[in-house]
Amino acid sequence: MRTPFIAGNWKMNRSIGESIQLAKLLKVKLADVSQVDIAVCPQFLALPEVAKVLAGSNIHVGAQNCHGNPSGAFTGEVAAEMVADAGATHVILGHSERRQIFGETNQGVRARLAGALRAGLHPIVCVGETLAEREAGATIDIVSDQVKGALEGFDAQALRHLTLAYEPVWAIGTGKTASPEQAQEVHASIRSLIASLYGQDFAHALRIQYGGSVKPGNVAELMACTDIDGALVGGAALDAESFSNIVHF
Ligand code: PEP
Repeated sequence: MRTPFIAGNWKMNRSIGESIQLAKLLKVKLADVSQVDIAVCPQFLALPEVAKVLAGSNIHVGAQNCHGNPSGAFTGEVAAEMVADAGATHVILGHSERRQIFGETNQGVRARLAGALRAGLHPIVCVGETLAEREAGATIDIVSDQVKGALEGFDAQALRHLTLAYEPVWAIGTGKTASPEQAQEVHASIRSLIASLYGQDFAHALRIQYGGSVKPGNVAELMACTDIDGALVGGAALDAESFSNIVHF
């Protein structure tokens, strides 16, 4: 049985002070939750403060990205070790906004994943197709390429803390959610791909989150799907009440 895992991606939102406030509210609202793993991913500058607020609580803290190298001349980047040093235990990698706006490739995601694993972070690797790719019937091919491209070269032991997030690009921040059937179809295909790469036991234990306009009103039907093990939540994670309602699905 996989423990559900629900993570909030706060993206480039909330000042340091606002992030602390949101973390304090969540700490109280989610204190009763023991059957769901929870994480929040604030912007980099707020991360150490949020980590302090949530230390000892049932809410993990993650970054929204990290670099693959431990240090060096990479202006504007933050190494995985620095992310861990700031108090994060998790990191989102390959989010579609990183891929689409900042040109991250599967190979780039793999390099960042190497850093995350070296630093002992629990990675959440995002994959998902665009609307044009879905309409062209290429969803499974695109998502499979992204999974294989990101994970190539890592063995099951290295990936034991991996979470995958299926996030159809057309559903992110648009209010359009994949139907449970659409999401389940892709999740099942990801799990079977993972089984072919790493074996049944690994595939069975791997958590695959769904992301794309998850809200309190649609989380339950998504979570009822066999291969959906949690959610990566953007917009609705910025409101303590709605994130709490999602976690209490
Ligand atoms: C996301 O950015 O990962 C996301 C799923 O956003 P939203 O929930 O706003 O669609």
